[in-house]
Amino acid sequence: MNTHYDELNARKQQASPRGVGVLCQWYVEKAENATIWDQQGQAYIDFAGGIAVLNTGHRHPKVIAAVQAQLEKFTHTAYQIVPYQSYVTLAERINQLAPIAGPAKTAFFTTGAEAVENAIKIARCYTGRHGVITFGNSFHGRTFMTMAMTGKTAPYKREFGVMPSGVFHARYPHRLGGISVDAAMASIDDVFSEDIAPQDVAAIVLEPVQGEGGFNVVPADFLKRLRALCDRHGILLIADEVQTGFARTGRLYAMDHFDTKADLITMAKSLGGGFPISGVVGRAEVMDAPNPGGLGGTYAGNPLAVAAAHAVIDVIEEEKLCERANALGAMLVAQLDALKSRVDHITDVRALGSMVAVEFEAAEHAKTIQNYAMQHGLLLLTCGKYANVIRFLYPLTIPQAQFQQGLDILQQAILSLKTDQITQAVG
Ligand code: PMP
Repeated sequence: MNTHYDELNARKQQASPRGVGVLCQWYVEKAENATIWDQQGQAYIDFAGGIAVLNTGHRHPKVIAAVQAQLEKFTHTAYQIVPYQSYVTLAERINQLAPIAGPAKTAFFTTGAEAVENAIKIARCYTGRHGVITFGNSFHGRTFMTMAMTGKTAPYKREFGVMPSGVFHARYPHRLGGISVDAAMASIDDVFSEDIAPQDVAAIVLEPVQGEGGFNVVPADFLKRLRALCDRHGILLIADEVQTGFARTGRLYAMDHFDTKADLITMAKSLGGGFPISGVVGRAEVMDAPNPGGLGGTYAGNPLAVAAAHAVIDVIEEEKLCERANALGAMLVAQLDALKSRVDHITDVRALGSMVAVEFEAAEHAKTIQNYAMQHGLLLLTCGKYANVIRFLYPLTIPQAQFQQGLDILQQAILSLKTDQITQAVG
């Protein structure tokens, strides 16, 4: 028992609502690259990366230097009132880097949900239609529209009342779940015949790799067929890359892995390297649909976060983080594949670059591993429809020796499942 944290957790219970669920029972003091230290000096290897925000690690020196330099100049003017050049140059960089066909434009916001909300506003404005199709098992955020779009009721939508209308869910292809590409396509036809006619649909929104939903990678064929379907009916295709973006999958954007192009891409998380910034990039013609004043926000494209984002893109290029994502991901997958043959409870190992997941028979298995790892100084996150998946979101800048140390703890954690005690607990 730890009196300091017991006391603090009791105060936390009193001071803030239980709806903000918290994983760790300890409190951070400082963090550097892939290490977090708690208030009592205990170190943790961070395989959670602040939920996919820290592909460039905690406090990357270049990110910190860029933000410090910006702090000396100005911290806020509201871009819509007094613009700054760094916003324009960041938009130019993203327009050039993002896999959008033809000329592109970018607008910045603050959170992932805000980027998704704005992508829907832009799509509705451009098409003059209202409908939005998303997928079962998806996650798009906690604001009202993104909550409606999210394909999971508990804990995200349950007891939060009536959702905004015009949002319909189709099936995301899922090999283990028995949803083939044909079945997923057929589910969109069902939406068209049962819920909303295709000519009323503004956009189909999908995560190229479902994040919270279990790191399910979209089949290339499904994307291609979705694109053809969208083109046939004048529907926009939106890729939500809030979790997949900025080198995590071994390319700057997950959509870079595919020939298919989206009309709009949302991004957030690792774009800011720990500072809150999000964006929507898209075909210039589509992005220009809303009238002046229709897009924006007081803090949208905050100058400190914009400075951080410039540094993040520099670091990804200079430190070849896409290549590193592939190398680290391959090491982890090799280890997990080897464990799969020894541990019956593992049902799947899947990955795109360093977006790696290992799926277990039951949530209890994932929870047991997460707890074991935490006790041994490794921070892991779960995900998936049944919370039975462990996902890996370590900084791509993690030193090799520390990565190996993390893998060693992970291996012990997974092998701990073999004990009778756990089998009984799950049993
Ligand atoms: N879209 C996706 C794919 C996400 O993974 C998330 C966050 N997990 C969001 C949107 C929402 O982002 P935020 O929490 O920054 O609003």
